[in-house]
Amino acid sequence: MSEVQQTDKHEHDTDRPHAHKIPIGISTCLLGERVRFDSGHKHNSYITKTLGQYFAFQAFCPEVAIGLGIPREPIRLVSDKHPDEGGVIRCVGTKNKTLDVTEALKNIAQEQAHWHKDLCGYILKKDSPSCGMERVKAYVNEHPTRAGTGLYAQVMMQNFPNLPVEEEGRLGDARLRENFVKRVFAYHRWVQEHKTGLSWNKLYQFHAQHKLILMSHDQNLARDLGRRLSQAATVENKELDAFQEEYFSDFMRILKKIATRKNHVNVLQHLQGYLKKKIAPQDKQELCDTIDQYAKGLLPLIVPITLLRHYFRVHPDSYVENSYYLSAHPSELALLNNI
Ligand code: SF4
Repeated sequence: MSEVQQTDKHEHDTDRPHAHKIPIGISTCLLGERVRFDSGHKHNSYITKTLGQYFAFQAFCPEVAIGLGIPREPIRLVSDKHPDEGGVIRCVGTKNKTLDVTEALKNIAQEQAHWHKDLCGYILKKDSPSCGMERVKAYVNEHPTRAGTGLYAQVMMQNFPNLPVEEEGRLGDARLRENFVKRVFAYHRWVQEHKTGLSWNKLYQFHAQHKLILMSHDQNLARDLGRRLSQAATVENKELDAFQEEYFSDFMRILKKIATRKNHVNVLQHLQGYLKKKIAPQDKQELCDTIDQYAKGLLPLIVPITLLRHYFRVHPDSYVENSYYLSAHPSELALLNNI
């Protein structure tokens, strides 16, 4: 996979870590490879053309990898009891019930852990008994339910619970798309920090850089995480190794919650406070009105963000410059235009 220099990523953020494409796992059929049971593909051009400018895709088709041919008999998830009642889901042929690939799919997922561990995200094909992330059709005593998860995807997600994972279908939703890409970039920054060795100071710095993002997702959880971080070394005498795992797992859990308009308004108003004595009264009013219109759903988030980026370019502030809130992902992806 070629490593391509990323284009101008953030207006005030050109020397930050993710200067190269970010490694992302993907279901092979989404790239247009004819690996599906019917020799077809499910090419998704948003993924390949748009996200592909920033992500280096590492494709894998579990069904081909376990030796099912192309074309092949379709497989499906079945169980004799609902999973909520203790049912165990198996993956079998739709016609040939003796074709049982349950263990093969689980094993092949375990065998890929050596490259999964280097990924910063994974895009899965929805509804697949192998790759689907959630709500995959599972037949409980021949009755269709949505209680299944693709067996390959399930093992991969269990092995790497913090990894940002999303399905291509859900990427069509502006909020889910923004959320996924933001998580990928944050995850990648964390990986970069680890490459040069983590320290308490670096952890404090990482948290400061992401504090406003966390606040836009969940204010209470963000405050709690900040409080635990500030007490971990000094009051509770925790070891960095153990705490950083706990920290990152909670960090990613907060990011997974979709940021709300109300929380964004709080963060935008907080940022506005930094400009109180720096911008003219009419500019202040314009900013206030813009945030107000965003709060009412009349403007997308990109409008107040663009205004704030402009004011902080003219009146730099070290805390804001250090924060990723105004530049959580590349502007070129236009992820804030529809939320
Ligand atoms: S959904 Fe997964 S298993 Fe099915 S063709 Fe695509 S990559 Fe292969």
